Amino acid sequence: MKWLSERIQGIKLSAIREVLSKVEAAKQKGVAVTNFSIGRPDFDTPDHIKASAKSALDQGYVHYTASAGIPGLREAVCRRLGEDFELNINPSEVIITNGATEAIHIGLQSILNPGDEVIVPEPMYVYYTGWSFLGGAKCVSIPLSMEDEFVLKPDRLKDYISDKTKVLILNSPNNPTGQVYEKEDLLAIAELAVQHDIMVISDDIYNQMIYDDVNYFPIANAPGMKERTLIIGSFSKSYAMDGWRIGYLIAPQALIDQAMKMHQHIVSCPNSFVQFGAQTALEASQECVKEMVREFDRRRILILSCLDDMGIPYVRPKGAFYVFPAIGQFAMTSRAVSDFLLDEAQVAVVPGDAFGAAGEGYIRISYSTAYEEIEKGMERVKKALSRL
Ligand code: PLP
Repeated sequence: MKWLSERIQGIKLSAIREVLSKVEAAKQKGVAVTNFSIGRPDFDTPDHIKASAKSALDQGYVHYTASAGIPGLREAVCRRLGEDFELNINPSEVIITNGATEAIHIGLQSILNPGDEVIVPEPMYVYYTGWSFLGGAKCVSIPLSMEDEFVLKPDRLKDYISDKTKVLILNSPNNPTGQVYEKEDLLAIAELAVQHDIMVISDDIYNQMIYDDVNYFPIANAPGMKERTLIIGSFSKSYAMDGWRIGYLIAPQALIDQAMKMHQHIVSCPNSFVQFGAQTALEASQECVKEMVREFDRRRILILSCLDDMGIPYVRPKGAFYVFPAIGQFAMTSRAVSDFLLDEAQVAVVPGDAFGAAGEGYIRISYSTAYEEIEKGMERVKKALSRL
């Protein structure tokens, strides 16, 4: 089509969508598919959060709000991050966004210039490359594997830093690997960021979903990092609010004031009544989050024991709700294994290469599916794979 912009031609639809259309096609044929490809909680949004949004609607909160979001929600974000992670944020440093998706986009658009480089450990969340491209920058990926336990070590990072490096994107707990960065590594990475004057985008959207008593350390708390970290938050996963489309961007004041221009150009302001629900999510008891995380943990243990039983290797996930097992023993590409599992076991997974070339040789299994469904699905996977 002759009038398409170079910008739009330089980005791709998420490869996860391809899996979803295959699942839909199978369903149309009357096949019941166990879906391990979904990157969202299967739980409903807790009732008290819904009630709060409904009440906001009834009270007439149907108009534009302040562009940065309602003051109560921006304050609630700061209080929750202070309480949970000892982060010291001022409400004026917060913009409420249309999910983490908008937060990362406007954050990157506010700091990138053509020719800049964005370093991202790979496998990576599907849109980082596209967001970098939209900012005119080049995404420089650092391939990680099971041998690295899918964690970027500071020594490795050093080799990829150039005088064009502007940003490092870190995502911990990670989608798709479920890995959580340790404090020592983050302190050393932070030192490099300060030394080379690099901004860090800390995609923290799974920071409430942690297992095995692992300690979560926000890189913004490392020396010299508060002034060079963009914190990305979301209500999608922790509060099962992915369809509500709400999240936030936190950045140093001078940057957030600039990012506001981009935010206004894209969405003007976040959805009004949704913000009241989000504020309640943060201010009310966090027991609902803990309850969901406990259930995810139960499922995680189940999936891991099924993988052990089949002799399929993986790095034990410590956060989020994904496991990223290696499928090299089957001598097939990750796409072929995913198609095989859909056809032969009626189980949908995401091929690892959807998260970049370093993901080839792995598949992503999401355990945001009911426990009993996982039991049945993994049994079918076992039977199908045993025929290979
Ligand atoms: N970042 C990561 C690592 C994700 O996994 C996702 C969603 O799956 C997002 C960002 C986008 O989240 P949101 O629903 O808040 O836009």
